[in-house]
Amino acid sequence: MASTTPQYVTQDREGSESSLQELAKRHLWMHFTRMSAYDDAEVPILVRGEGCYVYDEHGKRYLDGLAALFCVNAGHGRTEIGEAMAEQVKELGFFTNWSYAHPPAIELAARIAGLAPDGMDRVFFTSGGSEAVESAMKLCRAWHRMNGDGQRIKVIAREIAYHGTTMGALSATGITDLRKPFEPLTPGGCHVPNTNSYHWPEGRDPLWPADAVEERILFEGPETVSAVIMEPVQNAGGAFVPPEGYWQRIREICDKYGVLLISDEVICSWGRLGEYFGCQRYDYTPDLITTAKGLTSAYAPMGALIAHDKVAEPFMKGKGMFVHGLTFGGHPVSAAAALANLDIFEREDLCGHVRAKEDEFKEKLDSLSDIPIVGDVRGAGFFLAIELVKDRETREGFSDEESETLLRGFISGALYEQGLICRADDRGDAVIQLSPPLVADTEQFDEIESILRGVLTEAAEKVGKQTDRRPVRAAPRG
Ligand code: PLP
Repeated sequence: MASTTPQYVTQDREGSESSLQELAKRHLWMHFTRMSAYDDAEVPILVRGEGCYVYDEHGKRYLDGLAALFCVNAGHGRTEIGEAMAEQVKELGFFTNWSYAHPPAIELAARIAGLAPDGMDRVFFTSGGSEAVESAMKLCRAWHRMNGDGQRIKVIAREIAYHGTTMGALSATGITDLRKPFEPLTPGGCHVPNTNSYHWPEGRDPLWPADAVEERILFEGPETVSAVIMEPVQNAGGAFVPPEGYWQRIREICDKYGVLLISDEVICSWGRLGEYFGCQRYDYTPDLITTAKGLTSAYAPMGALIAHDKVAEPFMKGKGMFVHGLTFGGHPVSAAAALANLDIFEREDLCGHVRAKEDEFKEKLDSLSDIPIVGDVRGAGFFLAIELVKDRETREGFSDEESETLLRGFISGALYEQGLICRADDRGDAVIQLSPPLVADTEQFDEIESILRGVLTEAAEKVGKQTDRRPVRAAPRG
């Protein structure tokens, strides 16, 4: 069974458990977590963060190689974001965006519109990513209905892609194990192949997965298709980058059949790929962008749906309205956090830093290729993944059972023990995902490489494969 978050099974430490441990085990229901994994092991309790590092309740330091689930783009410990939030509380702690506005939501909407591609001028705030996706799917249906196309309800997404957990967003999510327990889902979710070219036969037309979208639209009947939703670089399955020309072809197909294009940038915006928005890196303009996470660097929960004028305009006229809302959408304290976060982005040119350093980061991970289970290293910006394979010649992956033993049983726990937080994920083929805060630099790349080298070399030995080079184990840190 696939899991979407790391299940670090740490060893019991000596001495009695902290009261926090007891309380966590008794009362806290962690998300996507096999709670029984902590029956005889410690819950990882993180108490403090600074830059690229976080500290657990014992004071042990970890390199946050996942920016706390692709979120803390500006890094931990940015007190100025907290100060901006406190200032906002002094002015106005909360008011809703249901029929009312307030300065932080207005300023933030204008600032986002200024950073987004031309024509994407209207911002609808949500509390997080699933709500942004859910809102986008509803907006697409409502837009088609306004245009007399009410039968357009289907959404085409990619296999193994994650688009969130609410019932609508889940119908776009292409991970069978996440869907099965909740079926029947909202009708309309259809799936097409993703762009994991590592497993394609040599010489295959790289644009075939784009053509598969057209085939699916024709199969479903274009008059029934509402939207295509995809991430600029697909996270689940391990940082699938688009082949050259993929996005241009997708845009063309959507235009040809009157289908709206949603760029799900819950992860791929706010510098993750070296631009404010992932679509800017691949040079396409979607009809809608969904975002969250790095918008506030996760100092406060917030998401947004950014609409092209073409989609928003019918809702701005006469009796038109988007009959949809969320109490906390545009929360002033979250909006203040986002504005302070974007000040940091601008001042420190975090997007420029990612562009300047992404090759160095990728080369560091590429250097692990001498380890016999390292199959493919891929991704863009500070958003990379290592696919692990049983056989490098045939590119055969591990079976579910082997993944369970290797990823959950060893790699996840060992990386955490060695002081690296990243994600060993088996939602498609087995991958290790890396997505550090955007302030990461040579020192952190070296540390990531060194810890991965030790753990993956040992993992390879466990499946009977020796690495030529001696493993370099990271020094334990206090
Ligand atoms: N879409 C994508 C691409 C995501 O990666 C995620 C979460 O990781 C979501 C949607 C859902 O976001 P949230 O967990 O904030 O609801």
